[in-house]
Amino acid sequence: MKKRYVIIGAGIAGITAAETIRSLDQDGEIMIFSNEKELPYSRPMLSKSPLLSLGLKSFALHDEEWYREQNIDLRLGVSVDKLDVEEQNILAGGRSISYDKCIIASGASNFIPPFKGREEVDICDIRKISDLKHLRRLAFPGGKAVVIGGGVIGLEMAAEIRRYGMEVTVLEAMPRLMPRLIDERTSDLLTERLPFEVFTGVNILKLSRKGEETVIEDDQGRSWNCDLLIVSCGVRADVSLAHDAGIACNRAIMVNQKMETSAKNVYACGDCAEFEGFNAALWGEGLAQGEVAGRNAAGDESIYTGCDTSLVMMMDDLGLFSMGDLGQTGEGYVIEEREWQPEARLLIDPRRPEKEGFSRKIFKDGKLVGAVLIGDLTSMNEIKEEILGR
Ligand SMILES: Cc1cc2nc3c(=O)[nH]c(=O)nc-3n(C[C@H](O)[C@H](O)[C@H](O)COP(=O)(O)OP(=O)(O)OC[C@H]3O[C@@H](n4cnc5c(N)ncnc54)[C@H](O)[C@@H]3O)c2cc1C
Repeated sequence: MKKRYVIIGAGIAGITAAETIRSLDQDGEIMIFSNEKELPYSRPMLSKSPLLSLGLKSFALHDEEWYREQNIDLRLGVSVDKLDVEEQNILAGGRSISYDKCIIASGASNFIPPFKGREEVDICDIRKISDLKHLRRLAFPGGKAVVIGGGVIGLEMAAEIRRYGMEVTVLEAMPRLMPRLIDERTSDLLTERLPFEVFTGVNILKLSRKGEETVIEDDQGRSWNCDLLIVSCGVRADVSLAHDAGIACNRAIMVNQKMETSAKNVYACGDCAEFEGFNAALWGEGLAQGEVAGRNAAGDESIYTGCDTSLVMMMDDLGLFSMGDLGQTGEGYVIEEREWQPEARLLIDPRRPEKEGFSRKIFKDGKLVGAVLIGDLTSMNEIKEEILGR
């Protein structure tokens, strides 16, 4: 008999699950619900596209025709409000819909710290296309912007806003940028090269309004005024549907290697799921887990064996790559560092200023276990292969 698959969320995890199911089951009925109105799109592009030429079509995962050809019933702008795992149905758009297999791919939402005065000011946080539209209404060339949070997305947004013509300042709570992702030296080198000012160790006391401006004050008596405030302080998995349905959740929905949740015939994948207590909240993870969930839902046998969790950040011509064990814990590491200076670079090729660079390779027991690159990322793929032992 024909199976009905219901997928909640149309990000990369949900769409990959649908694509995988269709490749294995040509007759099954596939319904995907998205509470966003736009065709499913590449979320990372939100911080990697020029604000002015925001071409939504160019970062759609597939055009409308593709969904028709695949016989996938994509319901845009429809939220799933309830999941009943006993009756095996969902409530969406006021209708109850039964399923044979359900895949939760509801992603995550941005975390906004409970700053004092938060309700008084207009905060932009970037997770959806609608957030970018909000930001575009507030941004203007010549204005001042502050980004709270110096992680990858915060820095990429800062670079885009600066390119748009705003003066940008980044405020980071930690004593240096990305302490969990890069070592201290790399962090310092990155901070030096950034085309905007970064303040670290900023503990925000309160936010307030002064006329049209937003004022940010910290516990050391410093303050920053801006026309545009962006907050980029990490994400929280969207677990509410699963939680309310009685599915086991920790920070995210708990899944096993087959992406099965604690409820029969219900799978979870991507930013909303955690496997062995871990959720990287990365594109590659959503892709890999969506495929495993789709395969198992369609009756195939598939297990999740991890994904590429390397960090790649591009801001104008400044790139950053980081992967693996950076030797920050324990002993027995051999570290090899190299730095290219602009003068030497100019002699090689004056048209390629991005060739300036820094590399840090971390070896253990004679093997490359981690690496960081700044500037010139051309050896990135080679390094990845070596770390993965391919
Ligand atoms: C600005 C930005 C830049 C990024 N850059 C990178 C990068 O460079 N590299 C990288 O690896 N990762 C990056 N990421 C992270 C990456 O985009 C996510 O890990 C990935 O998109 C997660 O995919 P997902 O399908 O799990 O969830 P999402 O993409 O969040 O999709 C979930 C969807 O489900 C919808 N939904 C939720 N609840 C319901 C409901 N009840 N009913 C209907 N629909 C629902 C949501 O609205 C959303 O559309 C970035 C993220 C952002 C925001």
